[in-house]
Amino acid sequence: MSDERIERDFSARAEEEQQAFLEQTWCDECQEVNLGMKNPSEYLLKGIVFIEGECNRCGLVVLTELTEDDF
Ligand SMILES: [Zn+2]
Repeated sequence: MSDERIERDFSARAEEEQQAFLEQTWCDECQEVNLGMKNPSEYLLKGIVFIEGECNRCGLVVLTELTEDDF
């Protein structure tokens, strides 16, 4: 398995799906769920898909990890 980060196209997802990912977040900094994120990007790393964005409240990086079922 590669350690390389492979970019994926978040905007290729269905509109409702994108919306759900943008709303359903966990922010480590704020310690709160569903604050939402902006500027999302998606990539594959070590067999896991990540959706990364910026917390709507604090602006720090928010990461959502997708299990294989969510692909
Ligand atoms: Zn935050």
